Amino acid sequence: MIPPPWRQRLQDQSDRRRALGRDRAIHPAAGVDFCSNDYLGLRRDPRLAEAAAAAAREWGAGTGGARLLRGTTPLHGELEAALAAWKGAEACLLFNTGFQANATLLPALVGTGDAVFSDALNHASLVDGCRLARAGGAHLGIYRHLDLADLEAQLAAWRASAPAEGLALVATDAVFSMDGDAADLPALLDLCGRHGALLLIDEAHATGLLGADGAGLAQLQGVHGRVPLVMGTLGKALGAFGAFVCCDGLLREHLLNTARGFIFSTALPPPVVGAALEGVRLARAEPWRRARALAFADRLRAGLGQPAMPSAIVPVPVGPDAEAVRLAEELQARGFDVRAVRPPTVPEGSARLRITLGAHLQETQVDALAKALRSAGLR
Ligand SMILES: *Cc1c(COP(=O)(O)O)cnc(C)c1O
Repeated sequence: MIPPPWRQRLQDQSDRRRALGRDRAIHPAAGVDFCSNDYLGLRRDPRLAEAAAAAAREWGAGTGGARLLRGTTPLHGELEAALAAWKGAEACLLFNTGFQANATLLPALVGTGDAVFSDALNHASLVDGCRLARAGGAHLGIYRHLDLADLEAQLAAWRASAPAEGLALVATDAVFSMDGDAADLPALLDLCGRHGALLLIDEAHATGLLGADGAGLAQLQGVHGRVPLVMGTLGKALGAFGAFVCCDGLLREHLLNTARGFIFSTALPPPVVGAALEGVRLARAEPWRRARALAFADRLRAGLGQPAMPSAIVPVPVGPDAEAVRLAEELQARGFDVRAVRPPTVPEGSARLRITLGAHLQETQVDALAKALRSAGLR
């Protein structure tokens, strides 16, 4: 039984959300998928299912413990090696989710006397990692979205009063999850180099999709293997589940000794690791998948009068929450699974449809969605 004061508080909060039209609910998948992050269409690929089954038969359904206890199978090491090789890194460390990686990486690296600088539109998991780092004594600076002049000014101002041994870290999404726009990694690397700052990028929406070999935004922008901390996820383009950080051996050793979300959590199950290994293999071996997803995204953007860009995320700005929800419902009624994204996931007054494109779609479906968007009274 919930004690009465708690019931009162939770009911009040629920009523307030509903009055604002901000109540969230879980809707099962229905209609043509224009909202998942399954960019390469690998999630339902029978080869991933078979790899998962084979891994379960050989190593079991679960790991029974954290990586540092008995939770490590040879598959975990194989996946880390495959990811490091793909990303051009010396080493790699798996995490159970992207959220857990971001939330645990930052407090493991910065504390009292240090600083972390974070793009204003970074993913919620990086935001929480920053808050934990601040709780651990670090200075937290949030710079305007993609504004490197603001970042540099904040770094300089912090340095002027920071202890001499204080170190800085800059964290950014590579491709931003709600807008599909991208950070300028060469410029960020240059800036971080001048200030001795460590750069962490989150390639959740770039891994498997961008660059000649699908390795990510760093590869697309010509800085493959040069970003010191590259986080990515296994549950989006790679069709499985989990996350990883590619870095050098010293950083990996530091993280496996200090990142609490790594140390105190049961290791990824073998079927998940087996599927992810197959996902990495197929992402590299079948480049048509990323070419197809990106071509669909540009086709939809062109149909909506938006400029081409290297991302499979197409935001359709709407503004008012209720209008975004109405549009999404109208499209859903026509068989398109498109979802509205509202504050606080996006800034106030910027509710939108967040449309994603994947290799599993057909060109006729993409064209039909563009047509439906135009006739749904999109302003
Ligand atoms: C999805 C996402 C995450 C979280 O990854 P999970 O493995 O789903 O927990 C982190 N960062 C970004 C940018 C994401 O889009």
